[in-house]
Amino acid sequence: MSQKRNPRMTIQRRMILDELRASRSHPTADEIYDRVRRRLPRISLGTVYRNLEALASQGAIQRLDLAGVQRRFDHMPAPHHHIRCARCGRLEDIVIGTSTPIGELVRDARGFKILDVSLEFLGICPECQGSSD
Ligand SMILES: [Zn+2]
Ligand SMILES: [Zn+2]
Repeated sequence: MSQKRNPRMTIQRRMILDELRASRSHPTADEIYDRVRRRLPRISLGTVYRNLEALASQGAIQRLDLAGVQRRFDHMPAPHHHIRCARCGRLEDIVIGTSTPIGELVRDARGFKILDVSLEFLGICPECQGSSD
C-alpha cells in the first residue's frame, strides 16, 4: 500500500486532509465539516465522515477513540500519545521520554498479544490554569 499522493483523490478528500493538517487540535468530524464547508458549501457531514474514515483506513491520518470524548481525527498517522485538559477538553500531542516502545514496558499483558497502545494523560492546560473558574 503506497501512501504517496493519490492522483485520484477527490477535491473533497484533499480539502478535508488539508483542513485536518492545518489544525493541531485533533478535531472531531463536526469541526472539520465546519471548516471544509467554508470552501465547499455543498459538502455534507456524511461525506466528510466517510472521507475521514477512508483516509484513516489508508493510514494517511489517525482515528482517535479515546475515553469519554467524541471521536477525533489526527493528521499524524505515526503512533504518539496525548494529553487532554480535564476542564476544556483540549487535546495535544505529548512527548514521552523513552526510546522503548510503551508496549514493551508491559510486564504482564495477561496473556494478550499487544497490537497497539494509546495513552492519554489527563491534566489542566495552561489557559485553564490561568482562569479561576
Ligand atoms: Zn483547558
Ligand atoms: Zn496527536
